[in-house]
Amino acid sequence: MIIPVRCFGCGQVVGHLWEDYKKRVEKGEEPKKVLDDLGLERYCCRTLFLTHKDLIKEIARFKV
Ligand SMILES: [Zn+2]
Repeated sequence: MIIPVRCFGCGQVVGHLWEDYKKRVEKGEEPKKVLDDLGLERYCCRTLFLTHKDLIKEIARFKV
């Protein structure tokens, strides 16, 4: 869906880093290096980024 504004595990604000992370990984950079550069050290925050998938556009096609 949409990246959470705060990490579920520790509460650090991470939402603003998502666009940058996505762009850099799409360009072919290694996710590990990008996460290190962005300062995401805790494994809870890293998991959030590594396992996230943008699905909002898919979901938005369906009406309730
Ligand atoms: Zn965290």
